[in-house]
Amino acid sequence: MELRDLYRDVILDHNRHPRNFGRLDPANAYAEGHNPLCGDRLTLSVRLVGDRIEDIRFEGKGCAISTASASLMSEAVKGKDRAAVRQLFESVHALLTQQDALAGPELGKLAALSGVREFPARVKCASLCWHTLNAALESDGGTVTTEVPDEVPSGPARKMAGEP
Ligand code: ZN
Repeated sequence: MELRDLYRDVILDHNRHPRNFGRLDPANAYAEGHNPLCGDRLTLSVRLVGDRIEDIRFEGKGCAISTASASLMSEAVKGKDRAAVRQLFESVHALLTQQDALAGPELGKLAALSGVREFPARVKCASLCWHTLNAALESDGGTVTTEVPDEVPSGPARKMAGEP
């Protein structure tokens, strides 16, 4: 079996049978994600114990890539602390965006997402869940959208009275 076929089968399997689908109760971190380009929407509920993700669920509606990616992510991050999640996200992001990035052993089944980089329009479908998880872990929730650049400074820009 070709690696490509194996990867496709992993994506199809996680789309048909999403792992950790639903809403977690009790949970203490939430965020919603929206990818307007494709229409993907998802809500994450996370139970953090200290710095560690004890449990996670996702729900929502999206394309096969976004659903499979969220399902794979939910399996991969369970039990990990914030620092480990951040490292994993960096590896996934490189895999999705760099043509020559190799899937290291730390990625496990997430390596199946490497096929997505051949379809640049779908990269945001695959990364939506990770941006949403970052929002859940780093803030008090809210909605993230893939259409906001990563480097936007936090907090709303306020104009002083009298400025044009
Ligand atoms: Zn999508």
